[in-house]
Amino acid sequence: MSHVLHRSLTHTYPTAVAGDGPYLIDRDGRRYLDASGGAAVSCLGHSDQEVIEAVRQQIGTLAYAHTSFFTTEVMEELADFLIARAPAGLESVYFVSGGSEAVETALKLARQYFVEIGQPGRKHVIARRQSYHGNTLGALAAGGNAWRRQQFQPLLIDVSHVSPCYAYREQQAGESDEHFTTRLAQELETEILRLGADQVMAFVAEPVVGATLGAVPAVPGYFRKIREVCDRHGVLLILDEVMCGMGRTGSLFAAEQEGITADLITIAKGLGAGYQPIGATLLSGRIRDAIAQGSGFFQHGHTYIGHATACAAALAVQKAVEQRGLLDRVNQLGDSLQAKLVERLGQHPHVGNIRGRGLFRGIELVADRESKTPFAPELKLHARFKKRAMELGLLCYPMGGTLDGQRGDHILLAPPFILDDSHLDEIVEKLSDTLDAVVASR
Ligand code: PLP
Repeated sequence: MSHVLHRSLTHTYPTAVAGDGPYLIDRDGRRYLDASGGAAVSCLGHSDQEVIEAVRQQIGTLAYAHTSFFTTEVMEELADFLIARAPAGLESVYFVSGGSEAVETALKLARQYFVEIGQPGRKHVIARRQSYHGNTLGALAAGGNAWRRQQFQPLLIDVSHVSPCYAYREQQAGESDEHFTTRLAQELETEILRLGADQVMAFVAEPVVGATLGAVPAVPGYFRKIREVCDRHGVLLILDEVMCGMGRTGSLFAAEQEGITADLITIAKGLGAGYQPIGATLLSGRIRDAIAQGSGFFQHGHTYIGHATACAAALAVQKAVEQRGLLDRVNQLGDSLQAKLVERLGQHPHVGNIRGRGLFRGIELVADRESKTPFAPELKLHARFKKRAMELGLLCYPMGGTLDGQRGDHILLAPPFILDDSHLDEIVEKLSDTLDAVVASR
C-alpha cells in the first residue's frame, strides 16, 4: 500500500518515469501525449535540455538563499525580464512557489496598499462565479467554483461573485456584445455600490477562464469596461493569469490582448513550465511606492519565495519561449487546433461549443445541442472522459460543473508550445474516439 495521500484514495495511478517532448512515459512503457500540459503547465514539454541544464547549473552554484538575508542575481534577472515585458504600470515582482500563493499575495498586497494609503475600510473582494483562483483559503474564497468551495465554506472570507463573461450561456439570444458587456460591467458596479464603494478593495478575474469554464475568453470590450468601473471607484483590478498567462493564449501576458493593464497580475504554471515550482505576483509602481513610503515592509513571506533554482528554471523557460519564437507558434498552432477541432467535432451531436485562444482550448459537451442541455451530473461524463482518453494515450483536463459547479462538462486543452501538426492530429483523433466511446457507454 502506498503511504502517499494521493488526490483520490480510490484510484490507482500509473507511475510516470520519464518525459519525451510532449509525451510522458509510465513504468510499463506506455506513452501519453500531454494535451493539457498537466494543468496548463508544461509549455516546453517534458525534456527541454536547455532548461534542465540551467537548473543543473544553478543548483551547482547556489541552490537557495533565504530572501530575508539575500537577493540573488537570478531572481533579479528574472524580475527584470518580466517587468520589461509586462503591461504598463507593473513595476515589481514578488516570487512565490505556485498559483495559489500568487493569488494570496495579490490579495494581501491589495489590503496592505489600502491600509498604507489611509483607506483601511477597504476590505471586500469581488470575483466571478465559475472561476478558479487556487485552493489555499484566501484563493479558494475568491474562486467562484461552488463544488470546490462547498465543504470549506465556513472557513472562507466573504467574497461577492458576479457573472462571468461566458457568452455561450450568459449572452442572451439577440443581445449584442456591446449590450452584454455593459450589462456585466453594470452588475459589477451595482455590487460595488451595494457593498459601499469605499469598502471594496479589489475585483479578481481570469482574462481567459481556465479550469472551471474551459478556456473561455471574454467578449471584446468587456475588460475595458470592467477597468473603467474599477477606476471610477478606486477598486484595484487583479488579473489572475496563472493559467492563461506566460504565452498560453498567444501573448506573454493575457491582459495585452484586452488592451488594458492591471494593478496586480498573478502568474505561475507556464512561468516555470513544471521544471521547478514557481509563481509570481506583479504589482504596480503605485502599490509598491505606497508600501515603500509607508511602513516600508510588505507583511508577508514564505520560506521558499524567490527560490534561486526555481528562478533559474523560469528564466531559462521564458528565454526559450522568446528566443525560439514560440508565441508566434502558439498562435499558429492554436488556430490550427481550433480548425481541426471544429472540422472533426463541430457538428458532433454532443459538442455544444469549441472555444479558446492560442493553445488554450475548451470543448463543452451537451446532451442536446439545440437546447444546450447538459448531461446529467450523475453520469460523471468528465471523469469517464479523462479515464478513457488516458487509456488511449492522451492526457486532457476534463471538468464537471461547467454551468454552476454541478451541471455541465467540458474538456480543457493546453498542450506544449513545441508540437507539430502530427501531434495536433493525434490529439483530435484521440479526443474524437474518446468522445464516441464515452457517449456510447453512458
Ligand atoms: N489561479 C488559476 C487561474 C488557476 O488556474 C490555478 C490552478 O489551476 C490557480 C490559481 C492555483 O494555482 P496552483 O495550483 O499552482 O496553486
